[in-house]
Amino acid sequence: MAETVLELDDLTVRFRLRRGDLTAVDGVSFSIARGETFGLVGESGSGKSVTARAIMRLIPDPPGEIQRGRILFEGNNVLERSDAEMRALRGRHIAMVFQEPMSALNPVFTVCEQISDALRTNLGVTKKEARERVIELLALVGIPSPQQRVDSYVHEFSGGMRQRVMLAMALSCNPGFLIADEPTTALDVTIQATILELITSMINRLGMSLLFITHNLGVVAHSCDTIGVMYASHMVERGKTRDIFANPQHPYTVGLLNSIPRLDTQSKYLTPIQGSVCSMMDPPAGCKFHPRCTHAMDICRQKSPEFREVAPGHFAACHLHNRG
Ligand code: SF4
Repeated sequence: MAETVLELDDLTVRFRLRRGDLTAVDGVSFSIARGETFGLVGESGSGKSVTARAIMRLIPDPPGEIQRGRILFEGNNVLERSDAEMRALRGRHIAMVFQEPMSALNPVFTVCEQISDALRTNLGVTKKEARERVIELLALVGIPSPQQRVDSYVHEFSGGMRQRVMLAMALSCNPGFLIADEPTTALDVTIQATILELITSMINRLGMSLLFITHNLGVVAHSCDTIGVMYASHMVERGKTRDIFANPQHPYTVGLLNSIPRLDTQSKYLTPIQGSVCSMMDPPAGCKFHPRCTHAMDICRQKSPEFREVAPGHFAACHLHNRG
């Protein structure tokens, strides 16, 4: 059995806002093994990105606060590490690719300067060695003419090329673990497929583990071993990708699957999930999905369902599974 690299245990993140408290992540637990690709899926506001930022210890406090839980990376709780230890961990051992490269890359430095900076800080290489490594990395992620482009500024690249630069930066220090937070959302559909393919091929080639965050279940179908589905700050279903697609156990997952265009169906129409995501400032009692669920029962409006194993290695939080 592969060694566990990352383990989240009952992670709960709260934000204290002027209008009141908001629990963005509530009791989320999952683990990722070495070499495993894990897709975290859910609509905007479900808590996916907050979970990723908590792993990197990038939740601003205040207003954010990790209320309870543990985040074990290679057996050590990152919540107990000092700021200096976290700086050493980020980039060198865990790296992150963000949704919008323009907000993560610095417009006043060249690509070479930005990636070299991470290399020199984390690996202690010389300026010349760093430049050579940056050119290698740009070639690795498919930037044409890397010797010429290495001295370009970010605004001189297209959206897809910027995302490749972000990926080169994330891979620069050979981290064992990559978090990709909606890395293809801001791109055209054709470029999305290329970047997705690039990320998965890099992961396989370099033997890394991946936490891939997306709102699109279709995106993770071919690229992830395991899927976790989040809704309104809770993990509502988790299992192997093939099991989630073949036999979804939570009505929300079924709704997400019905929203994906498919070639193997006669229907010309997609079936959207009715209603919209609840306000996290004032979430409904019981199961948070009940106002949108076509199977809702009385108990769903009163009591939160437990997250339980419904088949070997397949978990779901739904009262339908308590009926025997
Ligand atoms: Fe629907 Fe009830 Fe299951 Fe929630 S617990 S998903 S409301 S059936």
